[in-house]
Amino acid sequence: MKQKMRLFAMLVCVTVCLGSFCHVGSCEESLLPDRESVYQVALLQSLAQGHFDGIITVGELKAHGDTGIGTFEGVNGEMIVLDGVVYQAIYDGSIVIPPDSETIPFSNVTFFEPDLQVRLTDVPDMAALQEELNRIVLENGANLFYMVRITGVFSSLKVRSEYKQEKPYRELDVALAADQTEFDYENERGTMVGLYCPKFMGGLNSIGWHFHFITEDLARGGHVLQVSVSSAEAALDPTPGFALALPEQDADFQSMDLSRNMDEAIHRAETATSADAAAEEMADGEK
Ligand SMILES: [Zn+2]
Repeated sequence: MKQKMRLFAMLVCVTVCLGSFCHVGSCEESLLPDRESVYQVALLQSLAQGHFDGIITVGELKAHGDTGIGTFEGVNGEMIVLDGVVYQAIYDGSIVIPPDSETIPFSNVTFFEPDLQVRLTDVPDMAALQEELNRIVLENGANLFYMVRITGVFSSLKVRSEYKQEKPYRELDVALAADQTEFDYENERGTMVGLYCPKFMGGLNSIGWHFHFITEDLARGGHVLQVSVSSAEAALDPTPGFALALPEQDADFQSMDLSRNMDEAIHRAETATSADAAAEEMADGEK
């Protein structure tokens, strides 16, 4: 069983401790890998190539962080981890709490200890939101990870989930083009959880920001495709450590060519709406 599979955990801890990140306790404390690392399960590139088998359980993931994002075995919905609780936004946009035995093919979590805050008012779209957050990233170090929680009122949001996939798995962008579900919210209160990956992460994840959303009543959510912020507070946790868990005995994973450039497919999977997918299909048909 997958649960029996031993995980090979590689820990890369950046030993540079910038003064600005040492204001909570001492530098020694801030370098403790279990609290000051982003813990990643597998690679976005393996997920993009259709490795949807879980390699770690929800129970195990919670030992590595209390805040984050990810997905579930078979890409069965979008994961939001908030205050130590793992939430699953399933195909119909509703939230369920998965059992600790549920497994995970891809995720990023950390223990959230925010050092930076910024007030966001009337941010018109995703590009403007990323621009605001990138300013903070540039001021504090573009070559660190950042977990962000953005809590407030969102004037509009488009989020997606998807139907659980069955084997043989298709590649992620193909599966999403067929089985993505989308939900529009207006003037919704809630929290966006986001991760910023620095540019050197291009082969292991996608660089820049990736956001998931959950409503204030913890009833609905998904992966954020479009957003405008009315009024919200963003809290950021700059994180200097990185830990990667790979499946040690998994023939499918070991046979993948993970040097394949998945950038375009990942971009499509992260940003495409069903309208984009339909337009692309029509363009393909006309060729
Ligand atoms: Zn996502």
